[in-house]
Amino acid sequence: MINSTLHARELSRNFGNNIAVNDVSFSLQKGEVLGFLGPNGAGKSTTMRMLTGNLAPSNGSVKICGHDMVDNPKKAKEMIGYLPEMRPLYKELTVDEFLTIAARFHKVQSSKIMRSVENAKDKCGLSHMSKRLIENLSNGYQQRVGIAQAIIHNPEIVILDEPTVGLDPIQIREIRNLIKEIGKKHSVILSTHILPEVEMVCDRVQIINEGNLVFNGSIEDLKKQRRGNKLLVGFTKAPTKKELLAIDGVSQVDKIDKTMFRIHFKEKYLPAEEIVITSTKKKWGLFHIAPDITSLEDIFVQLTQKEKV
Ligand code: ADP
Repeated sequence: MINSTLHARELSRNFGNNIAVNDVSFSLQKGEVLGFLGPNGAGKSTTMRMLTGNLAPSNGSVKICGHDMVDNPKKAKEMIGYLPEMRPLYKELTVDEFLTIAARFHKVQSSKIMRSVENAKDKCGLSHMSKRLIENLSNGYQQRVGIAQAIIHNPEIVILDEPTVGLDPIQIREIRNLIKEIGKKHSVILSTHILPEVEMVCDRVQIINEGNLVFNGSIEDLKKQRRGNKLLVGFTKAPTKKELLAIDGVSQVDKIDKTMFRIHFKEKYLPAEEIVITSTKKKWGLFHIAPDITSLEDIFVQLTQKEKV
């Protein structure tokens, strides 16, 4: 377990009869950026709040670098930087004033506060905004301040809850790049409902759905899951299903409309070339052939049906 910085064991949280998080166990490895992916209401924020010691679990435990969040909350919390979904900013302060308070709050030694503030601003591209009131900053820059306060004490682990929500596309790209940079120095958990965000930023992904972890794997595993064993194929002079099923490796054919088919194929087969050759030979008028990418919603359905953890 030397490489594990955060360890959650059988975490659950109920709100009345509603089970928001159900028996969630996982570890965060040193130096990795872990995506915590799930639709709205899946239990991401509730989990993040329990990981950071801001919400007591109904059951289970959280250990940060070996320190238990209940037995030794001070030590455990010191090692975490957290940006909650609702940014904890005092907007009437300047960036410098706010980050100085954040440094004090995180128990940075007085002699080191100025250096920590400069460092965090530098990493988050805020150095030229030092004297600006936070309320006068754009949404994207306010989010940078939120991230700066999370790294001000140079924590081992940085937890960011939906950090790109409400930003415009350019700001989103900038914040994602910033998270990647932060991931080089810290272990990061990024909670999000955006699948491409996980693919762009994270090393590993866990999918949570209705409070349950339904997937844990590398980004490559996730992409494989999405690509699946399907092709989307279009012919102007469409053959019959039977003719397509006769192609080696094809296991199932769904007719979408007059010209389009979803062709499923067996594990370890890729019949694309055979489809092209047969179509040319039989003059089926092939005009489209591409992997059929599964949407996030479809993945949730597949995963929850399989009940795979
Ligand atoms: P996510 O962050 O994935 O959108 P949340 O963790 O915020 O999901 O919510 C998970 C479930 O828990 C939802 O059904 C939500 O309504 C419920 N929930 C979250 N916080 C509270 C609360 N303070 N009181 C009652 N229900 C809550």
